[in-house]
Amino acid sequence: MDRILVTEKIADEGLAVLGRAGQVDVRLDLDKAGLLAAIADYDALVVRSATKVTAEVIEAGVKLRAVGRAGTGVDNIDVDAATRRGIIVVNAPASNNIAVAELTIGLILGLARQIPQAHASLQSGKWERTKYSGWEVRGKTLGLIGLGRIGSEVAIRARAMEMTVLAFDPVVSFDRAEQIGVELVTMDELVQRSDVISIHVPLTDGTRNLFNAARIAQMKPGAFLLNASRGGIIDETALVEAINAGKLGGAALDVYNTEPPPADSPLLRHPKIITVPHIGASTAEAQTSAGTEVAEGVATAITGGTPRYAVNAPFVAPEAWQVLQPYLGLARSMGALIMQLIQEPVRSYELEFCGELASVDTQPVKLAVIQGLLSANSSERITPVNAPLIARERGVRISERTNPDAENYSGLLIVRVQTADTLRTFSGTVLRGEPHIVQSDGYFVDFVPQGALLLTYHRDRPGMIGHVGTLLGEDDVNISGMYVGRQLPRQRAMMVLTLDEPASDEVMARIRALDDVDQAYSVKL
Ligand code: NAD
Repeated sequence: MDRILVTEKIADEGLAVLGRAGQVDVRLDLDKAGLLAAIADYDALVVRSATKVTAEVIEAGVKLRAVGRAGTGVDNIDVDAATRRGIIVVNAPASNNIAVAELTIGLILGLARQIPQAHASLQSGKWERTKYSGWEVRGKTLGLIGLGRIGSEVAIRARAMEMTVLAFDPVVSFDRAEQIGVELVTMDELVQRSDVISIHVPLTDGTRNLFNAARIAQMKPGAFLLNASRGGIIDETALVEAINAGKLGGAALDVYNTEPPPADSPLLRHPKIITVPHIGASTAEAQTSAGTEVAEGVATAITGGTPRYAVNAPFVAPEAWQVLQPYLGLARSMGALIMQLIQEPVRSYELEFCGELASVDTQPVKLAVIQGLLSANSSERITPVNAPLIARERGVRISERTNPDAENYSGLLIVRVQTADTLRTFSGTVLRGEPHIVQSDGYFVDFVPQGALLLTYHRDRPGMIGHVGTLLGEDDVNISGMYVGRQLPRQRAMMVLTLDEPASDEVMARIRALDDVDQAYSVKL
């Protein structure tokens, strides 16, 4: 059983998820030396921000396959050292989305109705009903700078309040924006059209001081500016000046250039600026979800899967992930299946991505196929992280093509392997969330590629299926499913049997010896 070391406190729900994947040891007492001594026994390590997962720790973790960070930043993990060893580093970047999005909506409503100011006024003994007359958000235009994980959640919630939502994000596709009811526009158009602008971008060289005096000057008179992303994106001095000049209606801030801001900062006692102390992610649910999200990532990684958020694997856009995720298991199984049928040197591999797979970045699917192909014949641990490197070292070259047509399926993954004298082709799809192989070498079949399988290529004739069944029965192997594909009656055919237990070498030899059986393979997935 895999062993998982947890060195900092994570939510019980997360521990429960880990507990289903392996034996979990929570050791909150480990110092640097203690971690170095303990790590060799563990398959996975889960930390928050205090544990330093240095190259030394990674080297000492001879069995390590995954390191999880319950949270977003991975500054405390030597990701390069992990990548070199094929260790997947997962984090929990989505755990805060809802918390920050809901705070943003709270701040928008707070600005619209001056809720904090009205509260303070009443608490100070005043009853100022006319002073706190506000405006309704319905029908107003919200401009989102950044339509990533948090920006999208803000958009969905703002749409529910009947706001018009614009966004500027150079990476997000028009399809994705349309899906959540957002109009993608240029930065200039957004700034000029929005009644409220909310910022949801990372702090980078490109976003530092993005809202400087010149940009603020472009905003609609009386508009509002919000920032619950990172300090440094708004020029705080220019913001205060624009509000004092009556140019902007107000602002709401969760983050600051310096945190906490200096006690004499004009931001802190401005009547038109709502300030909260970087509490975007501070909800019970966000803490829980950081634990469960990282636990799910680690559990997926150590059971050979492709986790949703792997820091050292390619980033997949959310809309692409929805399409790709169901195909990953299929891709791994197809790689592993095909490799068990190949007995001579491979000349070339080709992947064809059809239908819904043709319009997204299919790199994770390709990695999953490689993982399957290599795992079947490797004593090394193959993960989506080191698969491309090992494939390159082994000279495995894979060509790819796309095809918008997927016959009658929404998506089809076709794997072709050419050896000196054979071309093997498998086509797979996902039906009701389950992987299915639907064609092989021109035969129409339909089976779920998992567990023990028996494949035969034979001549279609009466009694053939019975013979194979009898031989398996004599060996006490139970058949759970049977699929036969043929071209024409009494010509070449292919049979796939799903088995409760793998067929032994002896019974395989007897099946191969049957008249009219060309080839028979025992496959374990
Ligand atoms: P994300 O990576 O999912 O999305 C960021 C988006 O910004 C991306 O789609 C990217 O293409 C876009 N972007 C980058 N540069 C841009 C630019 N110059 N103009 C327009 N768009 C640009 O990130 P996320 O998880 O949505 O987080 C957004 C921000 O919120 C980050 O800065 C993050 O650190 C911050 N955050 C704050 C809190 C808090 O407590 N207030 C909590 C969590 C996250």
